[in-house]
Amino acid sequence: MNQDWRGILLRRLLLLLGACLLLGLVTGQYAWALVLGLAGYLYWNLRQLLRLHHWLKNADELPPEGSGVWGEVFDQIYHLQKRNQRARGRLQAVIDRVQESTAALKDGVVMLDRQGNLEWWNRAAGQLLGLKRKQDGGQPITNLVRHPRFKEYFEQDNHREPLELPSPVDDHLRLQLQLTLYGNGEHLMLVRDVTRLHQLEQMRKDFVANVSHELRTPLTVLTGYLETLQDNVDDIQPRWRRALQQMQQQGARMQNLLNDLLLLARLEATDYPADSKPVAVDLLLLSIRGDAQALSADRHRISLEADATVRLKGSESELRSAFSNLVFNAVKYSPEGGEIRIRWWADAEGAHLAVQDSGLGIEARHIPRLTERFYRVDASRSANTGGTGLGLAIVKHVLIHHRGQLQIDSTPGKGSTFTCHFPPAQVVRR
Ligand code: ADP
Repeated sequence: MNQDWRGILLRRLLLLLGACLLLGLVTGQYAWALVLGLAGYLYWNLRQLLRLHHWLKNADELPPEGSGVWGEVFDQIYHLQKRNQRARGRLQAVIDRVQESTAALKDGVVMLDRQGNLEWWNRAAGQLLGLKRKQDGGQPITNLVRHPRFKEYFEQDNHREPLELPSPVDDHLRLQLQLTLYGNGEHLMLVRDVTRLHQLEQMRKDFVANVSHELRTPLTVLTGYLETLQDNVDDIQPRWRRALQQMQQQGARMQNLLNDLLLLARLEATDYPADSKPVAVDLLLLSIRGDAQALSADRHRISLEADATVRLKGSESELRSAFSNLVFNAVKYSPEGGEIRIRWWADAEGAHLAVQDSGLGIEARHIPRLTERFYRVDASRSANTGGTGLGLAIVKHVLIHHRGQLQIDSTPGKGSTFTCHFPPAQVVRR
């Protein structure tokens, strides 16, 4: 209430008192006149209060007519109501437009609360995930998308990578789900239909796997004959001997390449490792060290420190491929006299395998691309070592199967450390 109204009210009260005094003067009953006057004033104020109450209860009605300060109060409240209504209308229009535009999206959008219960979703999400508006609102999303990978993905802290799954409604549909946290720990999930991309990817994988498979038999025949010829090298003209040797070397390289391609195709075909038994990594590393020593022909010092109590759930053959690729790379890319350290240990963050060499090292710009197929830092250098360019791609896939991650630290000229980190859930203590 502003200053003016205070003055007006004061004046009116004084006027009322004056009128009461006048009445008292006329009747000689001052006290009664005062009581009468004040009771009248009180009655009038209570009446206005009741009108206000009645109006607020029936907010649709127009405000009651009022005089004086009450009239002003009614008007102010009325304007406030109108302003709020307009603001609400504007907000609702914005919400409607957002909902309409997301409803029109081809990609699914799902909003989940902190616990992962469904709050809202658009039409596309309903179709792709088979969500029904009436039954499913408020339900935990993990009850509706029941794939084991999804539960794992939902519960992990890091959702940087999207997850690909078959749709719960139709096995032929392939969905890509991407979770994002927003606000107060609520989740926003985007759902994309990637069936076509998946089919193309599948065709590419099948093609590579088939070609590799088909090439294997002719190559086996060729290398078989080459070996026989090599065994009878004395019968061969000396000028053909070197050619024969080179043919055999390249044949072996092609065989390695095909084996690696087939292994990669097998790894890509499934989400999980072939089996999931606790693997005695210390023994595995011991045998890999033996092979590495043979490869190095005593040109390097190779040490092994492995905690025998730490085992890893997974597939021994896959882990052997991955770990031996790392150890053999350390041998291949370290000059004579180099030192190679293999360590296997566990801590609160899980289990770790580190292969450290004092070799050539890798420039930082190459590191993010090393696990790509056929990516080589220096093609001529790799060709000399007989590498296929698939080793680290295999390592990456085996680690994905075992929920692990590869960390590469390297200083050119000083050496590299390749570390595989496995989460605690994969570790078994003996
Ligand atoms: P390759 O069969 O050529 O060794 P990889 O996928 O195993 O293929 O490795 C990719 C590239 O990464 C290699 O060509 C090499 O340049 C580099 N690299 C891998 N390991 C090491 C290492 N320990 N030291 C230096 N460079 C390495």
